[in-house]
Amino acid sequence: MRQSLIIGNWKMNGNLAENEKLLNIISVSPILYEDIDVVVCPPSIYITHVRQQLAASKIKYGAQNVSAYKNGAYTGEISTTMLADLGCSYVLLGHSERRSLNHESDGQIADKFAAAVQANLTAVLCVGETLAQRQADETFLVIAQQIQKVVEQVGIQAFKQAVIAYEPIWAIGTGETASPEQAQEVHQQIRQQLAKYDENIARSIQIIYGGSVNENNAKALFLQADIDGALVGGASLKGEHFITICQASINH
Ligand code: PEP
Repeated sequence: MRQSLIIGNWKMNGNLAENEKLLNIISVSPILYEDIDVVVCPPSIYITHVRQQLAASKIKYGAQNVSAYKNGAYTGEISTTMLADLGCSYVLLGHSERRSLNHESDGQIADKFAAAVQANLTAVLCVGETLAQRQADETFLVIAQQIQKVVEQVGIQAFKQAVIAYEPIWAIGTGETASPEQAQEVHQQIRQQLAKYDENIARSIQIIYGGSVNENNAKALFLQADIDGALVGGASLKGEHFITICQASINH
């Protein structure tokens, strides 16, 4: 059975005092003792502080982005080995905000994926369609292409150390969530796509949903057979709401 996974994507929010307050709330919760994976992805500059504060906690942490390069003249960038050095376990790759604001291509995301896996990080590959693509009935074509590029470049075996986050772009930060059935349909198609390469990987990989997940809609999403958890933006900044989402994922 696949373990539930909840990842909080803090985006470019927080400061030392606010982060401390938030971590104090979530790290004392009983979710610590349950069989779920809980991860927070703060802005990279705060990873060291998050690490210190989570030292006695089961909650893991990761980054929101990383460079594909090992080291060298890449001003402003951070490498996968640096993240591993700071004890990160996860890294988000290809978040739609990075695809659109930073023009990250599927090829660049695949390069980052390869670097992450090489550094023993779990790569969280974010995929999703725009509203126009959904309305044009292109949802699965778009997502299949985003995944296909990574499979071609890094090989299916690398997905043993990966998570896929289905995040319809029209649902991110908009308050509009995909219905559980809409999300399930895509998750199932993703699993079927992976099964063509490797059935074991398709069965075992965690596929999580992201897009305005909150304390009220989480449970219905997690009841779907192929939804293994959530990538949570806005609601991950509210400790009590994040805990409620984590609790909703227990035993699914
Ligand atoms: C996200 O940042 O990946 C996200 C899904 O954000 P939100 O939950 O705010 O829609």
